[in-house]
Amino acid sequence: MIVAVASGKGGTGKTTVASCLAWVWKGPVLAVDLDVEEPNLHLFLKPRLDGRRPAALEVPIADEARCTFCGACADLCQFKAITVLGSVLLAFPEMCHGCGGCIAVCPQGALAPGSRELGEVLWGHAGGGRIGFCMGRLRVGEALSPPLMRAVIAQARELALPAGADVVIDAPPGTSCPAIQAVSPADLIVLVTEPTPFGFHDFRLAHEAFLPLGKPMAVVVNRAGLGGEDLHGYCRRENLPILAEIPLDRRIARAYAKGDVVAAALTDLHALFERLADRIGGVADAPRPVPEAAPHA
Ligand code: SF4
Ligand code: SF4
Repeated sequence: MIVAVASGKGGTGKTTVASCLAWVWKGPVLAVDLDVEEPNLHLFLKPRLDGRRPAALEVPIADEARCTFCGACADLCQFKAITVLGSVLLAFPEMCHGCGGCIAVCPQGALAPGSRELGEVLWGHAGGGRIGFCMGRLRVGEALSPPLMRAVIAQARELALPAGADVVIDAPPGTSCPAIQAVSPADLIVLVTEPTPFGFHDFRLAHEAFLPLGKPMAVVVNRAGLGGEDLHGYCRRENLPILAEIPLDRRIARAYAKGDVVAAALTDLHALFERLADRIGGVADAPRPVPEAAPHA
C-alpha cells in the first residue's frame, strides 16, 4: 500500500502525521519525503544514511557547426528553452524540461544529450532499522522539482518492492504540479488540515485538485477544536472519512520544535496514531463505489 500524506497549505501538521505513521506502522514501511524543495521528514525520523546519488536531467547540447538554423527544434519546444535568432542558436538549459524532443527532430544531428544537475536522492534507515527512508534534495537554484521527484519515486520503488514494504509519502504542500505528482502513485491520499477558515479553504482546494485522480481520500484534522464546523460538514457532504482528530496540545508543538516524532515523545498519542494507521488500512482496502452509469440520451 502507498499512502500519500498531503495538505492544501504548509504548516498543517503533514510531516508530523507522516513521521508518526511511519513510526507506528505495523510491518515493513518506507518513509519517503517528496517535498524535495524543503525536505524535513529526516529532521524527525533522523535516518542513518546508507546511500546517495546525484540526479540529473537530460538537456540538449548544441553543435553549431552542424546547425542549419532551420528552427525545427525551436518550433517544437513548448518551454522556449531553445530558439533560433537568424544564424544564432540559443539554448537555455535552466528552462529545459528534458523531453528530448528537440534532439529527436533535429535533421542535422546537431543536438546531443547533455545533463543538468537537479539535486540528489538519499536513502537509509530510521527507528533502529525498522523504517526505510528515502528523500530528494533539490539543488539550490534549481526550479524544476518533478524530475527529481520521479528519481526519488524510482529509488523508493527499488527499496520498497524487495522488502515488501508499505510506503508513506510526505507530499509537498499545495495543489501545484509537484503536489499532484507526489500523490499520483498513492493508493490512498490522507489530507491533513486544521479547522480554521484558512485551513478549510486550502483543504477544499487540495480536495478539488486531487479529485480528478480518482483515488480514495481521507482526512486527518490537526489542532482539533479550532474554528467552526465547516470542515466537518464538508467532509460529510463529500463522503470524506475523518480518520483522526489530533488535539490542540502545546506538548505537540514542543515535541515538533525539538525535532521529536510526536508518537514516540508523547505516549498518550501513540495509540491515536496506531488507530489512524489501522483506519488507513481499512479505507485503502474498502471496496470503491461503482460510478452510476450515465443515462442514455
Ligand atoms: S533543429 Fe537542428 S539544425 Fe535545426 S535549428 Fe535546431 S539544432 Fe539547428
Ligand atoms: S529537451 Fe524538450 S524541453 Fe528541453 S529544449 Fe529540447 S524540446 Fe525543449
